[in-house]
Amino acid sequence: MTSQLARAVLVSVGDELLFGETINTNAAWLGRALAERGIVVSRGYTVGDNRISIQEVVQTATRSTDLVLISGGLGPTQDDITRNAVADLFDRPLHRNERLLSDLKARFHSRGYREFPETNLSQVEVPEGAIVLDNPNGTAPGLAFEEGSTLVVMLPGVPRELRGIFLGDLSKLLEEWLGDKIAPVHHRMLHTTGVPESRLAEIIEDAINSNTTFARAMREVSLAYLPDLRGVDLRITARAVSTGKAEALIDQAEQELDARIARWRYHANGGDIVESVSDTLKDRGLMLAVAESCTGGLVTKRLTDYPGASASFAGGVIAYDDSVKISALDVSQQDLSRFGAVSEVVALQMALGVSKRLDSDVGLSVTGVAGPGGGTKDKPVGRVWFAVVSNGGKMTRSVDFLGDRDAVRERAAQAALAMLLRTL
Ligand code: ATP
Ligand code: MG
Repeated sequence: MTSQLARAVLVSVGDELLFGETINTNAAWLGRALAERGIVVSRGYTVGDNRISIQEVVQTATRSTDLVLISGGLGPTQDDITRNAVADLFDRPLHRNERLLSDLKARFHSRGYREFPETNLSQVEVPEGAIVLDNPNGTAPGLAFEEGSTLVVMLPGVPRELRGIFLGDLSKLLEEWLGDKIAPVHHRMLHTTGVPESRLAEIIEDAINSNTTFARAMREVSLAYLPDLRGVDLRITARAVSTGKAEALIDQAEQELDARIARWRYHANGGDIVESVSDTLKDRGLMLAVAESCTGGLVTKRLTDYPGASASFAGGVIAYDDSVKISALDVSQQDLSRFGAVSEVVALQMALGVSKRLDSDVGLSVTGVAGPGGGTKDKPVGRVWFAVVSNGGKMTRSVDFLGDRDAVRERAAQAALAMLLRTL
C-alpha cells in the first residue's frame, strides 16, 4: 500500500446550482463513489456557466491534484460551455469525432427523427488527445485527458448520465490511471442512541489516553461521529490492501469500542432502531401496543414503517386530549387533575390501559410537553414521561429534551423505542 492516496477535486458547473434551483447531488454522489474507491476528495468548487470562472477554477485545481472531475455544461445548448472553456484553457483544439457523429445520427434516426439537429454537433467535438467515455444513458459522452500528472475529466450534469459514465468507462480508467494509489476503503457503522456526541467523544478520548490496547486498535482505523436527532452513529474506516486485513482491523476496533458504548448501542443493518425492536419482539413472541400523546403517532408510524411489523405490533392509540386518555385508555380523571398529563402516574396508566384494551403483551407510552407553548417551571418544554409494562413488570422514566417542537417529538419517539428495547 502506498502512503500517498489518490486525491481528487470536484468542479460543479451550472448557474442553477448557485441560484439554489438545483441541489448539487452530483457532488455528493461523486464524493461517496470516490471515497468508496479510496480516492480522497480534497476540494469541491461550484461555478456558474461562465467561461472565466470555469477556467480559473479548473486551472487552480489541476495544479494540485491527481484527478479533476468537472460536471455539467456538456450539453448541446447555448449555456453549455464547459467543453470549450476547458479545451481552450489547455490549448487543445476540438476535433469532430466521426464515430461519435455516426452513433449520434443513428440514435436520432432510430427514434424517428429524420433531420439531425445542428445544435447537437457540439456533442461530438472532442478536445485533442482526449479519451471518449461512453454515455449509456444519453448523448453527451464523458471526456478525459492527461494534463501533466493530472487526469482531467468532464461529465454531463444530468445525474443519470453522470452516474452511468462513472460506473462504466470512468471506473475502469481510474483504476488504470491511479492504480496503486487506490486502497479500497472499508466501513462499519456502530449505532448508538441516548448519548450525546460530546459524551461519546469524551469516553473514547479517555480510553485512548489511558488504555494502550484501545489506543493501538484505534490507531489503525479512523473514526467518524455522525449525529442526528435519533442518535450518533460511529463509522469505523480502515484502508488496507486486502479485505481480510481491513475486516480484522475493524473487528478489533469494534471490540474495543463495544466494551465502552454497549449501554447505548443497538444493532440494525439499516440503522433504524425499529429493526432491532421488531426483531426482538418477534423472537420473544410478544405483541406490542403503543399509547402516544405528544408524539402524535410518530412511534406508531416508525414501527409500521418496518416491513413485517404486524407480527409484533398490535396497534396504537393517539390520546392527545385528556378526555381520550380517560375514555380510551382508562387513565384516572383524578390522577390527571392531581398530577397532570405529563407525569409518571399518567404515563404508567396509559401503558397499562393500552396493553389491556388492545390485549397485548407489552404496553409502551409517551406523554410530554412538545412546545413551543405549554411549558411551566415544574414541567418545562421538552419534559417527556415514558412507561413500559409487560407481564406484570413496569418501567418508567422521564427525560428533558432540548430543541424545537419537531426535535422534541423526534427525540422522544426514538427514546421510547430505545427504552422499550432495553426493557425487553
Ligand atoms: P445536457 O445535455 O442535458 O444539457 P449538461 O451536461 O449540459 O447536460 P447541465 O445542462 O449542466 O448538464 O444540467 C442538466 C440537468 O442536470 C440540469 O437541469 C440539472 O437538473 C441537472 N444537474 C446539473 N448539474 C447537477 C448537479 N451538480 N447535481 C444535480 N443535478 C444536476
Ligand atoms: Mg445543459
